[in-house]
Amino acid sequence: LVVLKSVNKHFGALHVLQDIDLTIARGEVVVVIGPSGSGKSTLCRTINRLETIDSGSITIDGKPLPEEGKALARLRADVGMVFQSFNLFAHKTVLENVTLGQVKVRKKDKKEAEERARALLDRVGVAAQAEKYPAQLSGGQQQRVAIARALAMEPKVMLFDEPTSALDPEMINEVLEVMQQLARDGMTMIVVTHEMGFARSAANRVVFMADGRIVEQATPDQFFSNPRSDRAKDFLSKIL
Ligand code: ATP
Ligand code: MG
Repeated sequence: LVVLKSVNKHFGALHVLQDIDLTIARGEVVVVIGPSGSGKSTLCRTINRLETIDSGSITIDGKPLPEEGKALARLRADVGMVFQSFNLFAHKTVLENVTLGQVKVRKKDKKEAEERARALLDRVGVAAQAEKYPAQLSGGQQQRVAIARALAMEPKVMLFDEPTSALDPEMINEVLEVMQQLARDGMTMIVVTHEMGFARSAANRVVFMADGRIVEQATPDQFFSNPRSDRAKDFLSKIL
C-alpha cells in the first residue's frame, strides 16, 4: 500500500533520511522505534508530504504523492496523522472538528458527516463530549477526538507519531486501547511509539531506525528477544 524506495532527505548538512526502503502492506501495523533524532518523525511527515524528499520515491496504492492543490488535500485525508500534540481546532466543538474535513475535502453533506462523526466519537468513547470545545477535554479525550477526526476522512493508512507521549500516565491506556482496536479492525498503521507493550501486542513488524537509516526490521518477538544489531541491543538495554 505504502512504498518508499531509496528515500533521501537532508536538513542542510544533516542527512536525516538515508536510503530508506520500506514497504507497508494493506492491514499491516508497523511500529517505528529508535533513538531521539533518528528521523522517525521526519519519515512519517514525508508520507503525507508535510516534508518533501530530496531523492527516491514514495507511492501510495502505486501512485506518487501529489504535490499541491486539491490532490494534496486528498492525500492528507488518505493518510491520517495523529501527533504528540493534539492539534484540534481550538475554536470548534468536538463535533465540528470531526465533521469539517468530511464536508470540505470529502464533499459529504453536513447531516451525513455529523452522523458519521457521532458514530466515530462513540467508537473512541467520547460521544458525550461532542458539543464541548477541545480545552474542556482531558488530554486522553482530545487525543481520541484527534483519532476520530482522522478516521472520519476514511484514510487508507494512519500515521501515529508518539500519540501518547504528552499524556498523563492514566490516560495513555485509553488511547492505546483505541489504537489496538483499530489495528484489530484491519487499519494499516505506522506508529512511532515508546510503548513497547503496544509494539509487542499490536505490531506485525518493528522497524528500528538510527541516524537516519533503517537498521533492522523484524517481528516484535524476534526484535525484542533477539535484536541483531548492536545499535538495537544498546537501545533496548536503555528502554526495557
Ligand atoms: P524524537 O524521538 O526526538 O521525536 P525523531 O526520530 O522523530 O526524534 P526527527 O524529528 O525526525 O527525529 O528529527 C531528525 C533530525 O532532524 C533531528 O536531528 C532534528 O533536529 C532534525 N530536524 C527535524 N526537523 C527539522 C527541520 N524542520 N529543520 C532542521 N532540522 C530538523
Ligand atoms: Mg519525533
